[in-house]
Amino acid sequence: MKNFAFVRARSVKEAVLSLGTDWNEAAVMGGGTDLIGEMKNYVHTPNKVVNLRAVPDLKYIKQDGNLIKIGALTSIAAVETDTLIKSNFAALSKAASLVASPQLRNMGTIAGNICQRPRCWYYRDSGIECLRKGGRLCYAMVGENKYHAVLGGLGCYIVHPSDTAVSFTAFDAKIKIAHPDGEKEVNIEEFFVLPEDDLNRENILKPNEIVTEISVPIPENGTKSTFIKVQERGVWDFAVAGVAVSLKLDGNRCDKARIVLGAAAPIPWRSLDAEKELEGRTINEETAQRAADASVYNNMPMTGNAYKVQLFKNIVKRAILELV
Ligand SMILES: Cc1cc2nc3c(=O)[nH]c(=O)nc-3n(C[C@H](O)[C@H](O)[C@H](O)COP(=O)(O)OP(=O)(O)OC[C@H]3O[C@@H](n4cnc5c(N)ncnc54)[C@H](O)[C@@H]3O)c2cc1C
Ligand code: SF4
Repeated sequence: MKNFAFVRARSVKEAVLSLGTDWNEAAVMGGGTDLIGEMKNYVHTPNKVVNLRAVPDLKYIKQDGNLIKIGALTSIAAVETDTLIKSNFAALSKAASLVASPQLRNMGTIAGNICQRPRCWYYRDSGIECLRKGGRLCYAMVGENKYHAVLGGLGCYIVHPSDTAVSFTAFDAKIKIAHPDGEKEVNIEEFFVLPEDDLNRENILKPNEIVTEISVPIPENGTKSTFIKVQERGVWDFAVAGVAVSLKLDGNRCDKARIVLGAAAPIPWRSLDAEKELEGRTINEETAQRAADASVYNNMPMTGNAYKVQLFKNIVKRAILELV
């Protein structure tokens, strides 16, 4: 591992002021479960690491009016087990419960989970300079791509690796971001970016910005949600395909739907076409199938991942029918 300076920030202000304007200058660390791996493997070699763990008041899950607010340093395990989350956001607590292993869920923070870097094997190989790392080629396009994107992957075909980000998107979460001049809040759908907008990064964060909080509106009465994840191994594995579905129901009639695919695209992929197939309709085998088919409209499989298209249709249908 390359030598680096270590800053133990005592406040959010100190953290953002310690970061630089260049990604190689400094990296922010939550639990370090992703960052340290990248540094050990020379995938990312910042000169400085700014550790957030000593910053007070960034670890909480609390209700504020109709919002549930989650501090950036809250562990994934706490999100999994918290009763406020379980009772309001079943799809989020289920997604958190399926992240990695108990050790990683205890160590990993919720902000680190949504900000983790891609798992594309070419990206994770320090000897390969692919497009995302400033090189000239996407090696997945012509190489091994069985886990890569079937939607939204123009230029780079990573899938976003975070399970919790998929559920947060289904609940219209907002992300609070601190920067040297103050803070701002954005909708989660504005937070993640496609390769066509930024080929090198997965979200809008600048090198000297950090996530401080994720807030989620409490769903309207009658809302039910679920999360399904397909893994190659039974546990401790990233998703091959995932889906979070949240439905506001009146009996079996769907008033509002959110359907978000995970491991389908470089961002958590909200499928508006699938949602339209459900809203205003009674949920049954037929409508669930139509939504499932619509969930992958415009898919563009690569040489080795066409199997994922049918997989998504299956889990979308299963998730919808689970809720009625
Ligand atoms: C073997 C293994 C299996 C895994 N399986 C899964 C899985 O199934 N599902 C899943 O979702 N994840 C999985 N992960 C990823 C794991 O969940 C992440 O490593 C973890 O969530 C990262 O959290 P952290 O706090 O340790 O982040 P760190 O390692 O500290 O940081 C991760 C990235 O986020 C940035 N970052 C951290 N905190 C902030 C912040 N507050 N603001 C801005 N940027 C920040 C860092 O600079 C870094 O780039 C797996 C990881 C491993 C090693
Ligand atoms: S999919 Fe993206 S990260 Fe992977 S090789 Fe292609 S450009 Fe690089």
